Amino acid sequence: MWPAADRHRGVRFPFLALGEQMSLKVYDSLSGKLDEFLPLKKGKVGMYVCGPTVYDWAHLGHARTYIAFDIILRWLKHRGFSVTYIQNITDVGHMREDSGEDKIGKKSSEEKIQPMALVEKYMREYFRDMDSLGVIRPDISPRATGHIIDMIQAVQKLIEKGYAYEVDGNVFFDVSKFKDYGKLSKVNTEEMAAGTRFEVHPDKRNPEDFALWKKAKESDPFKWPSPWGVGFPGWHIECSVMSAKYIGEQIDIHGGGRDLKFPHHENEIAQAEALTGKKPFVKYWLHTEFLKINGEKMAKSLGNYVTLRQALEKYDADTLRFFFTSTHYRSPIDYSEKNLEQARRSLESLKNSIMLLKRLTPSKGAKEEELEKQVKKTREEFEKAMDDDFNTPGALASLFNFSRTLNSFTSKSDSMSPELKEKILKMFEELGGILGLRLTEEKKAGGELVERIMGILIKAREELRKKGEWKASDEIRAELKKAGVALNDEKVGASWKFE
Ligand code: AMP
Ligand code: ZN
Repeated sequence: MWPAADRHRGVRFPFLALGEQMSLKVYDSLSGKLDEFLPLKKGKVGMYVCGPTVYDWAHLGHARTYIAFDIILRWLKHRGFSVTYIQNITDVGHMREDSGEDKIGKKSSEEKIQPMALVEKYMREYFRDMDSLGVIRPDISPRATGHIIDMIQAVQKLIEKGYAYEVDGNVFFDVSKFKDYGKLSKVNTEEMAAGTRFEVHPDKRNPEDFALWKKAKESDPFKWPSPWGVGFPGWHIECSVMSAKYIGEQIDIHGGGRDLKFPHHENEIAQAEALTGKKPFVKYWLHTEFLKINGEKMAKSLGNYVTLRQALEKYDADTLRFFFTSTHYRSPIDYSEKNLEQARRSLESLKNSIMLLKRLTPSKGAKEEELEKQVKKTREEFEKAMDDDFNTPGALASLFNFSRTLNSFTSKSDSMSPELKEKILKMFEELGGILGLRLTEEKKAGGELVERIMGILIKAREELRKKGEWKASDEIRAELKKAGVALNDEKVGASWKFE
């Protein structure tokens, strides 16, 4: 049963001015409906989004999901909510490859660094990548390895309540004890059992039971003592435990990519609701669709991924954000160079309209009233689209509609009153900012052309280095230094900056 806030129906968004009626609708994957957004506590939102597994570089698929939630966060804040945003860091527990080998252990031996240094490195790189994309950092990024005691306590409680059982150092959740199992993913237990990819653990009572605590092997990189022997937590328990710790037993929004619905989120529900006595764990489940490449999900395991670092060498952050924003978060996106180029061009045309606006001289132009009306209309259309389950393509369309009117104005007039110009620029800055786009910012020194030329140079230098032509490669670096450009060679390729 939902507490308090549902009783405030009708008294929506009391922090808005009187008469400013609005209602945000979100699509809840559990109910399968577009529901009015009414948080558990008036004016406050607790949002938990499953974070990355940090053993390798972040790719564009990750960016798809985290940019979507970044925009959702920005919109909630714009609507006046005070949001607590939690995104965990999975640094243990979700790591076994099909072969049973631990991914962190495997990667740390490949890179010849300690397992903890490996997760530290990729967690930092993940933050750097997200910072480059202008993704707002969560309020808390709790790490699974920092919450082992909390997880052990939760597992113990689940055993006491009869939802879990221990066999030979492993603890499993007994899915048959949780009657609602499957309510999110709508998969029944027989289908789940049939779909089990891996050999079923012989100690499980039911094939679809899942691990809460795993007995460690000699080779496992991280392990801790527990009431059931030395081991480490299963993947799912970290999110139930950390969301409860930092938000509460019930949370407003829980998000992640579509692939997490089953088994991860299904298992999170089972654990959390078993622990709290069936209080609904999450009010609104939000899931993003995949970024695809050649018709398949972009994924580390499929080897068809483009890292964010690689993408950022070619396209600036605004282009990447624009590319993702042009599609609704619940629709799949196709990655291709062609689609990214298209995004770059569309964004450029929008920015050009703004550049032309900036050049207008400050005196009243003809037919300003029409444009003034359009500003109001654009804001309304933008807000309406965003209130409709964060419809970013609709929001972008309102900006493009406006830019067409603006273009027709600037093609006829050389001037505009400073007040109107300010108003339009403010609108672009604010609305663009909600999508994380810096529409009104001047290009940094050198602009996009220099970015592209540097990209070509860096690539050519990489080719030289591959062939062992170090002298030529060093000469390029030295010449660039003379020109005031510093090259920084990193494992994923070089980056550059003006000195
Ligand atoms: P992982 O690091 O694989 O656990 O993934 C972290 C988050 O990124 C999860 O919410 C995934 O669903 C999401 N994700 C991974 N690949 C993609 C993709 N190709 N498209 C959209 N989201 C993705
Ligand atoms: Zn999770």
